[in-house]
Amino acid sequence: MNVYDSWRIAAMLDARDMIATNDVADADIIILNTCSVREKATNKVFSELGRIRDTKKPDAIFGIVGCVAREAGANAFHRIPELNFVLGPQSYHKLPMILDDPDTRLLNIDLTGLEKFDELPQMTHAPVVSYIPIQEGCNHCCTYCIVPYTRGREISRSFDDVMRDTTTAAKTGAVEICFLGQNVNGYKYTDENGKTFKLSDLIRATAQMPEIQRIRFTSSYPTEMTDDLIEMFAVEPKLLPFLNMPIQSGSPDVLERMNRPYSLDGYLEIINKLRNARPDIQISSDFIVGFPGETDADFEQTLDIARRVRYINSYSFKYSPRPHTAAALMPNQVPENIKRERLAILDNTLNEIQREFNETCINKVLICLYEGADKTGRHLLYRTPYMQQCIVAKPKDGTAPTMAEIKITAANRASLRGKFVLY
Ligand code: SAH
Repeated sequence: MNVYDSWRIAAMLDARDMIATNDVADADIIILNTCSVREKATNKVFSELGRIRDTKKPDAIFGIVGCVAREAGANAFHRIPELNFVLGPQSYHKLPMILDDPDTRLLNIDLTGLEKFDELPQMTHAPVVSYIPIQEGCNHCCTYCIVPYTRGREISRSFDDVMRDTTTAAKTGAVEICFLGQNVNGYKYTDENGKTFKLSDLIRATAQMPEIQRIRFTSSYPTEMTDDLIEMFAVEPKLLPFLNMPIQSGSPDVLERMNRPYSLDGYLEIINKLRNARPDIQISSDFIVGFPGETDADFEQTLDIARRVRYINSYSFKYSPRPHTAAALMPNQVPENIKRERLAILDNTLNEIQREFNETCINKVLICLYEGADKTGRHLLYRTPYMQQCIVAKPKDGTAPTMAEIKITAANRASLRGKFVLY
């Protein structure tokens, strides 16, 4: 979501003929986009703003956008008086006001819902992988999560708006569409004629576009994985065989305190249906370790579910108490050293499963999407249908096909190596 927001902010500056620089000291405008899901990122924001203030040109304007901006509000100006603007995740479309009049100070942290999508300038060129937000906010109220506070209640964009953005993206460079939402599979829009559209309708319509080769969506809430959506994995080959469906914990007690009211059996049943629909589908999860009251036995259940489902490409986090959330006030907060220990054990388990899955890919031919050069600039990076990174030698003619059949030749925990089938 933040990648998308940053991209739209960059496009607004682009439309004003500004050019990007990597050098803070050279910039005329500096915008820090921020995330407040965990405390660590939030803490870094103000030290980073202090560094920017001390490095930037005296007349360069600078400000903060995103969820930390919403959370800090006017307090941000007290902490860093030189700031020119503080804009929340639903009001960064107000940025041109500050560009028109750099002497004003702009504070807007309103939850406007969908207003920004109407006001942002039309996209003119889309990245190969284009993120398309289809809804904002979340109604689930997981007890650890700050999102309902920072991004507000859940609202779905209209089917026509989403398809207009998707068509523009397809016509201006997109090959892969990733539908975005805090609760993306809860997408539901009813038009003026009473017709209701769901995520499966967006997928079906997008798959008709010849330019679009791959479709995915993130992040999904387990109990909203309805049969019409699962069916898409069976009938729509462009929908990638990969799904992020966070379980967060393998302990029913912890899940209940998290206010994630699904049973392990119910969750595993959804995975069964998904595997029946698309036998090679791979599932990814987010995990939180050290949630208040989590015992060793609870944590064992998380390791157990990770091994049973054989998750790949997962994210794991130490529980981080957040303002405005119920869990921050719960008794039996888990000490930092235990959280750290559990995270290391879970990461080891997930890495081992990932390595085993990556090794099963050796000798397979996968159709992959070009992502760019690797860090050394000597190789090409491709993304497999399961979202693994695959490193390929540069072909002699210097070309890099956008989509290519790649035979996997080697694998480790972090990535695959492969070679083009056609060269
Ligand atoms: N609905 C969004 C939530 C974004 S937060 C999504 O599923 O992508 C992404 C992940 O951060 C969550 O799935 C959760 O695992 C983790 N997270 C959220 N709040 C957290 C907290 N207070 N402490 C630790 N991890 C948290």
